Amino acid sequence: MKISRIVCFLPLVLLCFVPVVAGTPLRQSVVPKKSVDAFSGIEAGAKAVTPSRPTETGIREIIPDKYKKRYEAWKTEFLSSDTGRAEWDAYQKSEHFILTITISEENARGGGTSKYKWNESGELIAATITLGDRIYEGFPSPVYYPVMNSLAPGNSSYAGNGSLLAATKIAHEFGHVRRMSKTNPAIYRLQAQLIPLYNSILLSNGRNTRDPRLVELAQKMGGTPVEIWEDREYWGEVGAMLFLRDITARQNYQCTLFNRIREAVELYARPYRDRFAEIADAPPASDACSWQ
Ligand SMILES: [Zn+2]
Repeated sequence: MKISRIVCFLPLVLLCFVPVVAGTPLRQSVVPKKSVDAFSGIEAGAKAVTPSRPTETGIREIIPDKYKKRYEAWKTEFLSSDTGRAEWDAYQKSEHFILTITISEENARGGGTSKYKWNESGELIAATITLGDRIYEGFPSPVYYPVMNSLAPGNSSYAGNGSLLAATKIAHEFGHVRRMSKTNPAIYRLQAQLIPLYNSILLSNGRNTRDPRLVELAQKMGGTPVEIWEDREYWGEVGAMLFLRDITARQNYQCTLFNRIREAVELYARPYRDRFAEIADAPPASDACSWQ
């Protein structure tokens, strides 16, 4: 059977997803060749001397004129959820954090969050979300994106529109920012330093993950590069699920969506089940959709 590969290569941690749906989902087991040199964005951010607070705070939207109309539709949809609106307001009013949102033709149906900066106290003070210009279409693989994939035609009875899919992808990126605000920057920087080293060894040793050097590096980093990456992506999906929970609250298709998400999580992301179940079992989700 023809296989459609997972697409978000590891060191492209910043580029979080590119939609694929056709074929059989495949879990990533080794770091693809192309990944070795792609971590420079993080390293640059990690080494930067950061001020105690940015000169500008709040949300800075850098949207080319040709995308403004579609962007406003996506944003309106995102802000129609309680979670989305609350997060947006919090960032907007923040006195120490600046969130930049921009649109790019690269990775047109995907997105990414990057350029994280922290102050001396370990507080996250900056991040940049880059949205593809066509995020209203394309459904990422259920292996790493069980929430966004739940909206794919045929997966649910919910006839979502393009803005809903786009807003779900925005929520995924906000999920990354939320998680990063709780992440120890020292650990993040250590991972940014060691992941390229891990990858270079992996590609030179016949992809033997039992190599003692790699085992030691994984222990230092808190996981293999793939494990670190998938953990981050599933936190992004938590953001997407919070959004969909709000949007579908009191709608009869919420259970259909949640059941679809649960199927994918149990099939591909079982160790991460709890973070999704917590959302399914908390208000405003319907009791009828519980994962218990
Ligand atoms: Zn992501």
